[in-house]
Amino acid sequence: MRDSIRKFLRQNTFVFFTVAAVALGVILGFALRPREMSLREIKYFSFPGELLMRMLQMLVLPLIVSSLVTGMSSLDSKASGKMGVRAVVYYIVTTFIAVFIGILIVVIIKPGRGNRDSPLSSSGNVELVQAADAFLDLIRNMFPPNLVEACFKQYKTLYSKRVYQRNIMVAVNTTKFSNSSESAIPANVTRLLLQNILETVEEIVPTAGSSSGVNALGLVVFSIKGQALSEFFDCLNKAIMRLVAVIIWYAPVGILFLIAGKIVEMKDLAEVGGQLGMYTISVIVGLLIHGLIVLPLLYFLFTRRNPYMFIGGLLQALITALGTSSSSATLPVTFRCLEENNGVDKRVTRFVLPVGATINMDGTALYEAVAAIFIAQVNDMDLNFGQILTISITATAASIGAAGIPQAGLVTMVIVLTSVGLPTEDITLIIAVDWFLDRLRTTTNVLGDSLGAGIVEHLSRKELQSKDVEVGNSITEE
Ligand code: ASP
Repeated sequence: MRDSIRKFLRQNTFVFFTVAAVALGVILGFALRPREMSLREIKYFSFPGELLMRMLQMLVLPLIVSSLVTGMSSLDSKASGKMGVRAVVYYIVTTFIAVFIGILIVVIIKPGRGNRDSPLSSSGNVELVQAADAFLDLIRNMFPPNLVEACFKQYKTLYSKRVYQRNIMVAVNTTKFSNSSESAIPANVTRLLLQNILETVEEIVPTAGSSSGVNALGLVVFSIKGQALSEFFDCLNKAIMRLVAVIIWYAPVGILFLIAGKIVEMKDLAEVGGQLGMYTISVIVGLLIHGLIVLPLLYFLFTRRNPYMFIGGLLQALITALGTSSSSATLPVTFRCLEENNGVDKRVTRFVLPVGATINMDGTALYEAVAAIFIAQVNDMDLNFGQILTISITATAASIGAAGIPQAGLVTMVIVLTSVGLPTEDITLIIAVDWFLDRLRTTTNVLGDSLGAGIVEHLSRKELQSKDVEVGNSITEE
């Protein structure tokens, strides 16, 4: 008995530390509020939290690229196609359910009705985003500027140019020329990725040789097939996950200061009374129903496994999402929890998580719908069925377009409001509580991505098994 308790404690050390960090952060934040720190002091105070954000963000881009490349190349195109369809169907269906729950809650609770002289009318001002800007941002976020560049920029500081040059040559020379037809990476994508790498090499290592030298190197590298590329990215992926294991030790400290800093900074709680308080409650109730009842139920229906055990394994990621307000920054921890605690197949996590963290945001969609209808209620505007339908569609689109960064959903809200003719400046009404709701919706977003990975894995077990038998699987053996 004592042994099993000790084992449980050992296995969940990080989780305990992180939960304790959240509690301490809240206590410290409230204890320091009476001191009325200046913005500069708050910035210094939150510095350990900012460091955590930077550490995680540093890893995200290379992690996404390496995961996607190795995830796709470890599956044949048929399997990855099927898995992709399952993931996308899951994303769309759950996002719509989230929006539906949000609408139902806000229509029942009616947080924006009544009391016209609420403190809402005197909310602070912010620089408002035009609908067109928000829409452009939505499209922009779907296309990151350069997927590979960030991976390689790190080399500039890590290695001297010579070492870097030598490593590239060694990598090229020792690459196995595979004739595997299994690779799901089409040749043109491979070529494009390599072209990117080479351009970056040229850019960051200007003296690596004349450009003709780099072009010659390019000719050699262009002949590498997808398999070799995936091996390269597999190594990169392993290196990043090692770094994640180190950063996780620091995470509780960072989370403590992120939360305490926000509490010190937040406006007076008296302002959050009345309508804004009811609005906050509506979003929280919606998120709880979706995250703790609907999604687990879906997971159970598909897998017949206990969803709450699965969620237990995700605690570290969920708390990191709560602390950072960013599903992208949480991604490294989500990978770790899914693969190590819940034993989800790496071919699945690598394939579906990076996409999920960017486009599957149930919490954001739910919040966008609630916020839009709340603003309509505050403005005494009665929405007809068509307008509610428009809100559900645009809230879904806005959540897909929102980047996985803090308060991105607040920006894409403009699209939802504009679609039904609501005043975009009324976004200011909800800003006071957004920092808090952002944390909760981000946690729901991460939960949705993770349960989705579990469901997709279960539905794809046939393809995964047959792939194991046919070609073996280096990824699962790691
Ligand atoms: N912060 C959220 C996320 O990273 C996006 C949002 O603002 O809703 O998932």
